[in-house]
Amino acid sequence: MHIYTAKHISEIIQGKAIFNGNPGSSPVKTISIDSRTVLAGGQTLFFALKSHRNNGHKYILELIGKGVKAFVISEKHTSYIYEENVVFIYVKDTLSALQKLASWNRQQFEHPIIGITGSNGKTIVKEWLYDLLKSQYSIARSPKSYNSQIGVPLSAWIIQENHDLAILEAGISKPGEMEKLQPIVQPQIGIFTNIGTAHQENFTSLEQKINEKLTLFRDTQHLIFSVDQEMATGIIKGFCIKNQVNMFSWSSVGNEAVVNFHYSKKKNSTKFQAHYKEQSYSFTIPFTDKSAIENACHCFVAALALGASLPHVGNQMQQLSNIAMRLEMRQGNNNCLLINDFYNSDINSLAIALNVLNNQAKKSHLSKVLILSDIQQSGVKPAKLYKKVNQMAVDAGVNEIVGIGTEISKNQGCFKMHGSFYLSTPDFLQHLNGKPFQDAVILLKGVRSFNFEDIASKLQQKAHQTVLEINLDAMVENLNTFRSLLKPSTKIMAMVKAFSYGSGSSEIATLLQYHKIDYLAVAVADEGIELRKSGITIPIVVMNPEIHSFQNIIDYRLEPNIYSIQLLKDFISYLKLNASFDFPIHIKLDTGMNRLGFKTLDEIIELTKHIKDSGNIVVSSVFSHLAASDEPNMDEFTLGQIGAFKTLSKAITLSFNYKINLHVLNSAGIERFPEHQFDMARLGIGLYGISSTGIPLKNISTLKTTISQVKEVSTNETIGYSRKGMLGKKGEIAVIPIGYADGLSRILGNGNGRVFINGYYAPIVGNICMDMCMLDISHINAEVGDEVEVFGSHVLVSELAEKSNTIPYEILTGISQRVKRIYTQE
Ligand SMILES: *Cc1c(COP(=O)(O)O)cnc(C)c1O
Repeated sequence: MHIYTAKHISEIIQGKAIFNGNPGSSPVKTISIDSRTVLAGGQTLFFALKSHRNNGHKYILELIGKGVKAFVISEKHTSYIYEENVVFIYVKDTLSALQKLASWNRQQFEHPIIGITGSNGKTIVKEWLYDLLKSQYSIARSPKSYNSQIGVPLSAWIIQENHDLAILEAGISKPGEMEKLQPIVQPQIGIFTNIGTAHQENFTSLEQKINEKLTLFRDTQHLIFSVDQEMATGIIKGFCIKNQVNMFSWSSVGNEAVVNFHYSKKKNSTKFQAHYKEQSYSFTIPFTDKSAIENACHCFVAALALGASLPHVGNQMQQLSNIAMRLEMRQGNNNCLLINDFYNSDINSLAIALNVLNNQAKKSHLSKVLILSDIQQSGVKPAKLYKKVNQMAVDAGVNEIVGIGTEISKNQGCFKMHGSFYLSTPDFLQHLNGKPFQDAVILLKGVRSFNFEDIASKLQQKAHQTVLEINLDAMVENLNTFRSLLKPSTKIMAMVKAFSYGSGSSEIATLLQYHKIDYLAVAVADEGIELRKSGITIPIVVMNPEIHSFQNIIDYRLEPNIYSIQLLKDFISYLKLNASFDFPIHIKLDTGMNRLGFKTLDEIIELTKHIKDSGNIVVSSVFSHLAASDEPNMDEFTLGQIGAFKTLSKAITLSFNYKINLHVLNSAGIERFPEHQFDMARLGIGLYGISSTGIPLKNISTLKTTISQVKEVSTNETIGYSRKGMLGKKGEIAVIPIGYADGLSRILGNGNGRVFINGYYAPIVGNICMDMCMLDISHINAEVGDEVEVFGSHVLVSELAEKSNTIPYEILTGISQRVKRIYTQE
């Protein structure tokens, strides 16, 4: 455990300590940069970071209320600086202070550090390495994908005396960033995963980006990389020679590397032979996809470079899991929410999971239950370990613990909250029969061997098994990607019309409001009313206001889009009736779409006259919509629209002596015409993960279901309505509970569409029915209850759209309301 005092830390980061009263000799255990995740304040040092969207100094008073007594700040505000018994360490730049502290902590560690960078696979390689090596080493590793300018220092802080290996990942998005991360990681062993096009916009060439990433390995002893990526190989080899780094190159196709792999794919697994010097080793992984093969090779070579026991690592390879599935949220019975995390159970991942538990419970005012298996943490005495677990659970406000396993049962005295203990999972299941949980958030955290999935399946709600899963973290990432394309001062209006493009209404709007979106836009007033009722307070624009909804628009402070003189006149008379003044409206100009909007200068002169005469309206914004912003062959037309917009909007802005926001770009517009961003941009489909130019966006929605039945079909049998389906051979089909009434277009039947099951694609056979369809799974090992991805990260929405002769918008908004939406967020 670190025992630094605020005073000591102030010296390390060369700050100036300011305090009233007690000078802060209490130890600092935890550092935090996010006020929401501070659990027990007393031993936390809070770094008030500043970004162009947020400022940590805003949360200082609230944190003092939570018991935090030490802060690193770069702004001295009178509102908090005189607080008694609180230490403020004043520095010029709080982020570089955080980095300095982390780098200092790293200097204290003399054991090996594995540093990982590259475009893809960093987190998986890190997690897999952890799993492969955890029985041989006591490992500190980056939580989740903490690889940024902030994430890397937070990760390095985790390294403590009892560790004898650390695995840290580092990522960059622009030049100069790795220079700051290198002193914090200083790896002895480096892994360069691969190079792709992510973040390329900030670099002049791929070569520049590779060199920037390689900066991490300046002082490394061994560097692991694949020679199968021809472009990068030359640069990496040159770097190693120049910096005297030992090359652990590998290849899975040729024989020219230091370590050479040969592999053969089986149905659901891949078998490897590795050749190094005169030795050869074999191992198997339970995956067949290209990136898993690459990641496994990196891990094996890293274990080799580290000098770990290879037979042991080889054995563990069979147990590797898909890390995306590790922490998932499920709706439980009796108004419970389940957080399933039963892949591994160590102190770090428990801390992360408890944080998720705490956040989820806060949102819905549910009680907090922790179901925990024995913890497998090498190097710590059980009594000490479980005392610490108890403290973590107390800090997270856990109301009840269920301990499962012999070790945790033996140490049940360590737990100070309401608890019950069982020797095995079956023991607990038997007990559970009579006593279900109610109104609780339940964290299921256990090692694999405890089979916690049996508990989960008992607690989980079994409704219609077809669900649309929305990844809120990915949506935030997409939002940030678009923000990076816009100037910091440009406002964003998020389009949440049509049930947020099918993904939900209040859940999405709440997230966007939290992330400081400036405006929301809905199609009709009813959608806006629903948002207001669920606590949305930011401005909401109604794109198609209808006269019958004007009273609601005024009552719920919604802002109408005004597109005709008649509509304006009607709205003005409603405002008079309500004695409302200064009511904000948005004016739509038609510059070529020929949909709603004012088209001519004459109309605009009449419009401005009416607005001025009314005396009760403020023009909040003027906008137009582009008809073909995603079609390069029509760019001339688009630029014409933008030109017309400038002319027409000028006639409005000149008539008023206050600021009116102008905006014309939709998602594709932001990607392709950022030079015309005016004051605001309207972000729609991009937020939901679809790009028109191929910028790296995250998939946010996964439509999935489970297999209802599997059966054998012989050569001459037919499948489904009109006997259209035929396998043409003896084979196996699966029935899944999704049909055209759920939004799965009938055009996708008869082999046109496909789904993804257990690592393989399965074509849809025969006609799609209303509530079901059938799949050819002859080549797949699958059984009843297995998960099926209808679209997501393997079957892209764009692929479905193309095959159904439509656009992604229609696919997303066409998922029917009976398909339950579930949300995941860490
Ligand atoms: C739907 C809509 C948008 C968003 O368009 P995307 O292509 O989804 O980004 C922008 N402006 C208006 C007026 C819209 O109706």
